Amino acid sequence: MPENSTAKASPRRVVIAIDGPAGAGKSTVAKRLAARLGFLYIDTGAMYRAVALWAQRAGISWDNPQALEELALAADIQLESDPTRVFLNGEEVTEAIREPGISQGASKVSALGGVRRALVDKQREMAQSASVVMEGRDIGTVVFPDAAVKIFLDADPKERAGRRMLELRAKAASAPPAGEVLREIRERDDRDRNRAESPLVQAPDAELVDTTGLSIEEVEETILKIVRARTSNGSEMH
Ligand code: C5P
Repeated sequence: MPENSTAKASPRRVVIAIDGPAGAGKSTVAKRLAARLGFLYIDTGAMYRAVALWAQRAGISWDNPQALEELALAADIQLESDPTRVFLNGEEVTEAIREPGISQGASKVSALGGVRRALVDKQREMAQSASVVMEGRDIGTVVFPDAAVKIFLDADPKERAGRRMLELRAKAASAPPAGEVLREIRERDDRDRNRAESPLVQAPDAELVDTTGLSIEEVEETILKIVRARTSNGSEMH
């Protein structure tokens, strides 16, 4: 349990934590859920991506812990919903942070304890004034161990790579070959699961939802049922 007292959101606020590996469907379902419930949607992966992007632009290696911690502390990261937009130090970087190279960079900088502490503080602050659907790798284990609802989304690696392919194709005329996308996802998952700092792991009290073969509507309904069951008085739920 973190010592930081800000780990608890205000009692009237609800935190829905969604964790899981790349391509499990977290962003799509978290966005829809947030819109449906009137909650803020927070994509914590975008924050690690923003730090990796800033480092790349500043010529700082993704393996330099001290310089990266300073960047993470100094970074002004703003997340907007509807439409989802990401701003780094006042500049929109929504598309720039989705470049394939930045995925690997985010995975590298997120293994550094100093970077994680800086961004976790920012994430806790974001949930101070609103109910949130927050997605990432450590939301239910580290950022909000007291979250009212914890979901661990997973899916077969081939299906996750297939979804990532569709995303990449939607953005660019040519996407890398399927084998390359699968390898990239596996590499990133391995690093995320095996790092010393806040590894990707299912919280003991998180509900596992395997999205293999499920439509987005089915995933959303499954999660909504869990949300309703876990928020017993339900007064904030629509
Ligand atoms: O979610 P997304 O794939 O955009 O995240 C990019 C990378 O950021 C992940 O591969 C992971 O290494 C890192 N990350 C993390 N903790 C989070 C969110 C993302 O370590 N809460």
